[in-house]
This record gives sequence, C-alpha cells and structure tokens, in this order.
Amino acid sequence: MPQVSKRLAALSPSETLAMSQKSNELKAQGIDVINLSVGEPDFFTPDFIKEAAKKAIDENYSFYSPVPGYLSLQKAIAGKLKRENNLDYAPGQIVCSNGAKQSVCNVLLSIIGPGDEVIVPAPYWVSYVEMVKLAEGANVIVTAGIEQDFKITPAQLEAAITPKTKALILCSPSNPTGSVYSKEELKGLADVLANYPDIIILSDEIYEHINYVGKHESIAQFENIRERVVIINGVSKGYAMTGWRLGWIAAPQWIAAACNKLQGQYTSGPNSIAQKAAEAAYNGPQDCVETMRQAFERRCNLMVELGRDIPGFKVNQPQGAFYLFPDCSYYIGKSFNGKKIANSAELAMYLLEEAHVAAVGGMAFGAPNCIRFSYATSDEQLVEAMKRVKKALAVIS
Ligand code: PMP
Ligand code: GLU
Repeated sequence: MPQVSKRLAALSPSETLAMSQKSNELKAQGIDVINLSVGEPDFFTPDFIKEAAKKAIDENYSFYSPVPGYLSLQKAIAGKLKRENNLDYAPGQIVCSNGAKQSVCNVLLSIIGPGDEVIVPAPYWVSYVEMVKLAEGANVIVTAGIEQDFKITPAQLEAAITPKTKALILCSPSNPTGSVYSKEELKGLADVLANYPDIIILSDEIYEHINYVGKHESIAQFENIRERVVIINGVSKGYAMTGWRLGWIAAPQWIAAACNKLQGQYTSGPNSIAQKAAEAAYNGPQDCVETMRQAFERRCNLMVELGRDIPGFKVNQPQGAFYLFPDCSYYIGKSFNGKKIANSAELAMYLLEEAHVAAVGGMAFGAPNCIRFSYATSDEQLVEAMKRVKKALAVIS
C-alpha cells in the first residue's frame, strides 16, 4: 500500500486553519458562529493598493518575476527598513515569497538539518514547530508563562543553548500572546546570543504595525548579532492583505542566496500582481496602517475588559498583534453534562459547539492552559462572542 512519507506523517495539520474551517462548516449549515479562530484582519485592503494591482494587470505584469521578487519591490522594502527601522539592507538581501509563512519555512529549510536544534519560545505560533520538523530539526521549547508576560528571559535562553543549537525563533509582537519585547529585553537576549556566533536568529516581525506601546523594536538593531539576524515580515497583517500572499525576509547575503536557490526550485518568485500591490503598500501613504492599528487597540482594550469579566480567566494586557490569550486552567478537568473537558483543545471545541464561538486551544501553541481568541473583528461581534463564552463557561462544573 502506498503511504505518505515519514516526514509528512510526522506533521500536524495547522490548528488555526482547522478551527477556522470547522467554524465555516457550521456557518454553512446555517449556525450563527462567531469566528475568533483564525488570525487575519477583518478590514479590506486599502484602495490605493488595490488600484496598484489593477494597474499592474493592465500593464501586463503577467510574466514570471525574478525569483526573489522584482527589484522595485526589493528596493521598496529596503526603503521601508531604513525609514521605519533605521536598518540598512541592500535590495539583494531581500527575498520575497508567498507569504511570511513560506519565508519562515525557506529559512529553516536552508539552515536546519537532521539533529540541529532550534530554540522556540512557547507560547509559539503553531507553524514554527512543524516547519522545524519538516527540516528534520529538533525543537527545543523554552516556556514562558503568563506570570512573565509570556516572554523568555536571557537566563532561560542561555540555559537552552547547546553545541547543537542552530537557530532561535523570536516573534514580537507575538502570535498568540500579544506580548511585545522591549528594547531592553531584546538587548538582554542579544547579549547572550553575541557569545554564540553559530546561532541564527529568526525575528518574525509580521505584527510590527499592530503595536500598542509605541515604536517597533527589532532585534536586528544590535550590532553584536546583526549579521546573524533574519527579519521575517510581510503585508498580510499591517496592510490587511492576507489573501494576496506576500511575505519577505531581510537576511545576511548567504541566507538570502540560499532561500533564492530553494525557492527557485520550489515555487519561483511570488505572484507578480501581489508584488506590485505590496510595492504600492510600502511606497504609499501609511495612514491606513495607523487607522487599522487604532481599531485593533480599541478592540484589544475591549477584549481585556470582557475577558477579565469571565470568572476563572487570567488575562494579561497584550501590547500588540490581535489576540487575547487567557489562561483558562480553571476550567480544565471540569465537566459539562458528565463529559470531562480534559484540555484546552476540548475547551475550544466545547465553546464552538455550545457557545458557537470559534477559538483555538492553547495546546497547538505550546501553552496547554490557555486559549486564543483573535479579536480582528467588529466590536459588536466581540461583545456578543464573549457574552456567549461567559454563559457557556458558567455551566461547567
Ligand atoms: N508569522 C506569524 C507569527 C503569523 O501569525 C503569521 C500569520 N499566519 C505568519 C507568520 C504568516 O503570515 P503570511 O504567510 O500570511 O504572510
Ligand atoms: N497567523 C494566522 C493565525 O495564527 C493565520 C493562520 C495560519 O496561517 O496559521 O491564525
């Protein structure tokens, strides 16, 4: 009997996408489900970006682009890095891909081999650990609980490093916690990493523009590790362009070259029209980004208030991204109608079935005591969703 490869068999399906799919199936059956599972902005892509895409179609951007993306887009991204982050990158250090998801995977496949260790702070975004597995690497999970605002300390990082450590994956602002590392906290981590010149730092900054504490800080700013940092970013979140599929890395030349080679055999350059749209996003007026950020901030505060009103939930104050990640251990092990809710995945399923609210259990993020609610939806939907959650949880005992 033909079978899938061992590599594929070891892979778990994406829990975020699976919950979203389930919620859509229930909706199709006419059930009024509020979907707080998948993390994507509810806004439409800004008009000037759509116009640029229409123009690109009319101007016949219909041919294969260079593998790392058009030079004009690489330049627009290098311009953004200078303008917003005060970082100098040559256009050749930028590689554009089909979403930041592919960017992360490209980098891991380029640098990780069998047995190489990758340090992944938990809670983590679901796909990191699966991508490490795909690269046949070993995940080294470093856990940071709600009491430390879900952020790892320099001492924890130091303790996790071994001679086999090849990479660290950092995500700030974080999916799923919304935590943001301050400049001082990043410097603390950079100072540890400075002593280990073989470690590559993947810095996932896809939520850069959804930040409630002011200026975005990148770990790439520290000169002592700069040549080993790969920035991962893209237009999905900040410009409400999830479906366009356009992400990128800014990397040391040798990693950019490796990703270029990999992508050249695997997917080629990303969609030409999406590239022209992304170019317009980076070169155009940025007020749309601020307008959406403000809406997310308002919803964040609303969700914190609603979350703290639910007995048993422990809620931290997120500083970015668009997720609330309450600790819900109070409910785990309790029962509904004689049926035990054994873990956070079962709690999420209970909420979907009983409250018709889709969330994602924290197990998929390496945080079994937590549950993730994406608040990238209207205030009315959020109020209604949390009302339903509160009601459904009140009958668990
Ligand atoms: N990193 C993180 C932390 C994310 O939440 C996402 C969203 N799915 C991605 C990367 C990938 O984004 P995309 O592929 O849509 O650019
Ligand atoms: N980043 C989003 C999330 O975590 C999109 C879904 C995905 O790509 O996993 O929900």
